[in-house]
Amino acid sequence: MSDLAPTLETIRTAPKVLLHDHLDGGLRPRTVAELAEATGYRELPTTDVAELERWFQAAANSGSLESYLETFAHTCGVMQTEQALVRVAAEAAEDLAEDGVVYAEVRYAPELFVERGLSLEAVVEAVQEGFAEGTRRAAERGRRIHMATLLCAMRQHARALEIAELAVRYRDVGVAGFDIAGPEAGFPPTRNLDAFEYIRTSNAHFTIHAGEAFGLASIWEAIQHCGAERLGHGVRITDDIKTDERGEVHLGRLAGYVRDRRTPLEICPSSNVQTGAAPSIAEHPLGLLARLRFRVTVNTDNRLMSGCTLSSEFAELVDAFGYGWADIQWFTINAMKSAFLDFDRRLDLINNVIKPGYAKLPN
Ligand SMILES: [Zn+2]
Repeated sequence: MSDLAPTLETIRTAPKVLLHDHLDGGLRPRTVAELAEATGYRELPTTDVAELERWFQAAANSGSLESYLETFAHTCGVMQTEQALVRVAAEAAEDLAEDGVVYAEVRYAPELFVERGLSLEAVVEAVQEGFAEGTRRAAERGRRIHMATLLCAMRQHARALEIAELAVRYRDVGVAGFDIAGPEAGFPPTRNLDAFEYIRTSNAHFTIHAGEAFGLASIWEAIQHCGAERLGHGVRITDDIKTDERGEVHLGRLAGYVRDRRTPLEICPSSNVQTGAAPSIAEHPLGLLARLRFRVTVNTDNRLMSGCTLSSEFAELVDAFGYGWADIQWFTINAMKSAFLDFDRRLDLINNVIKPGYAKLPN
């Protein structure tokens, strides 16, 4: 492994694994503008690409939930046709591959893309076609990426069981699992028990967005009542970790359970800072959680709104916590172990792609 400190440029060359990334949060600014033009979407704040890029980040940074949600109204607004979905998915695969991501689970809520009459099935098939196309184009440039899909249900809607069934129906053609997203407060995960039970009894996989804006109760319900295999964010687990006056760290029962069970935490540093779940990258609970050896994974959440890539997230963590290559490899193997992919393929990626990739980094 390289002795040199990781930089953004060298991190981009290392193999990485991404488990938490939203399709409608990762569009290229130019694509938003071009799709708006092509599909007759008239609501964009500006059609100038550079201004639009700045607008997305500023709106997401503003601290106002209204402007944060407005960013997704626009991305979803331009993703209402099959062609648009194919293009966005293909570009997501290309962009992630270009950033050195070798395995990605990208998620979206199919019910958000049916405003112009697409069926849920047509949405899923268009996105799968796009991922296949993007994977092919990346391979032509010598970049190998495995794209997997997670289907989300929106907490505030009542379609979770329907979406869970959709995820199971498409599991052999690239849909790796299920998730619920949307506002945590007022919409506890136990509202969707039927969907989680359906997923579990179908021997399928799911994660739950929990412990981002809302505290321990949400994490506890997600794990103990719903049976979530992973936690989307989960950073608020630190509410159950106390440091005493001697500096000794004490885990409460839930935090201990999460660590003992190796429950993966899909942590998204920049996104947490934007939504106020963490005050800054330097003060992000990821530092403590990694030190305590929780199963921490590093993720992007929304690349457009946060103006980030998986490599830039790692570069920020290197600056904040002094991480070296061994740490980046640890986060990467944590993520690969936690993927909703067959055991033999996970092992293959760890032994034949990730470990050799870190071993041959430039010295
Ligand atoms: Zn998310």
